Amino acid sequence: MAETSESLYSNWKKLYPKHHRGFFRNLRWASTSILLGLYVILPFLRWERPGDLPDQAVLFDLPERKFYLFDLVVWPQDIFMLALLLIAATLGLFFITALAGRVFCGYMCFQTVWTDLFLSAERWFEGNHKRRIKLDQSPWTTEKVVRKVGKHLSWLIISVITAAVFVFYFADTPTLLRGFFVGDAPFAAWMTLLFLTVSTYAMAGFAREQVCIYMCPYSRFQGAMFDDDTIIVAYHPERGEPRQANRRKRLNSNEPIGHCIDCGECVVVCPTGIDIRVGQQYECITCGACIDACRIVMDKLKHPTVKLISYTSLREMGGQRTRWFRFRVLAYGFLLAGFFAAIAVYFVQRPLVELNVVHHRQPIFIVLSDGSIQNNFTIRVMNMTSSKQVYAVEVSGLAGASVKIGAVSEMDEKGQPLLSLGPGDVAPYTVYVKQSPDHIQPGSQEFKFRLVATGSHGGENFYQSVFMRP
Ligand code: SF4
Ligand code: SF4
Repeated sequence: MAETSESLYSNWKKLYPKHHRGFFRNLRWASTSILLGLYVILPFLRWERPGDLPDQAVLFDLPERKFYLFDLVVWPQDIFMLALLLIAATLGLFFITALAGRVFCGYMCFQTVWTDLFLSAERWFEGNHKRRIKLDQSPWTTEKVVRKVGKHLSWLIISVITAAVFVFYFADTPTLLRGFFVGDAPFAAWMTLLFLTVSTYAMAGFAREQVCIYMCPYSRFQGAMFDDDTIIVAYHPERGEPRQANRRKRLNSNEPIGHCIDCGECVVVCPTGIDIRVGQQYECITCGACIDACRIVMDKLKHPTVKLISYTSLREMGGQRTRWFRFRVLAYGFLLAGFFAAIAVYFVQRPLVELNVVHHRQPIFIVLSDGSIQNNFTIRVMNMTSSKQVYAVEVSGLAGASVKIGAVSEMDEKGQPLLSLGPGDVAPYTVYVKQSPDHIQPGSQEFKFRLVATGSHGGENFYQSVFMRP
């Protein structure tokens, strides 16, 4: 068999995307500014909470296993909600992809946002497209060194800030910020800072479009969510072809000529370096840069209404109208709404106090000298509100029962023990449930613990348990 020397891997070619202006570029700047602004500001926002609770608006407290999102506190027992949230996020991605293709990649993805930021710094130090190419091809001079060092320093500063802000989501921001400056921040914080600095620097500075093309799994399976009505960026050959670069031939041709002048502007602005005129390609992140670039060319040629490249759909290109409401989009939309509704209902209706009960097995019951029977339990109470609460402990479904709690002397007017817990406090108690002799039946009996806050915003909770008898 003849051997072939053709490589299975394409060579990496450095891209120099040209800066351009236009409507979609402005839209991307707006999206980048909002997302970056939120990312940086959120961990610095303060939020007043009672007692010892942290006053950081958004805080993922991993040691305490609690997430604080403004007034919402996510407790360890709510953690399964994260699974629902991840499913909802995936459905959101499916929904937006079915509707508008890879628009998430073009306008919202971290890789796009940070690459845009790095490219701006690069342009500031090295100039636009052609000057950057020239600089890379020129021999090393003092000016080249200064420009390159300036660019890499600015990338490094952006990377360090990016990494530090990420770490601030997991600790008290002012304390950690001080810790970074005086050098006594925790080891894990330093390691995360280092790892994220290096990865941001590498991904947004060097890997760039390689991440979108080769590393991101989303680009590989997005095709499964596309249909004829999905919005894509496409070139219209019926308006552009046959293209003619030569102005004189264009003006003097007797044959019909397309509007494309083969200037290549749509290619040099493309952040993934593709030529959209070849057809739809999975590398396209639907950013609209080529639309803006061609728009400028058409305006210069005084063809303001000609759209050689546009956001469209395969159906629209076939001469029909795009159908926005279709089964796939509606199904994703309903599922997404359903998941968000379920998450919202859960958080609105979840108990404000957590109660867990463990029956003591040694001994399983005690016969007291007066003939009554006592069962011992350990209960674990968690105050999930943001204020101090006092809870009464009751039992129901067990005739002639009385409750006592070890080390708790405070009682309400009905003789039920009262427990005081601060916001976010968790405490175990030993509970003695006693049934008087005149109500004792043979065998075990199910009954319920009820924990109810004496205040109006403390909530209540129940726990089904078993009272054991001879
Ligand atoms: S082809 Fe156009 S829309 Fe697609 S990535 Fe390139 S510039 Fe962006
Ligand atoms: S920018 Fe427009 S005119 Fe220029 S090559 Fe691209 S499609 Fe043709």
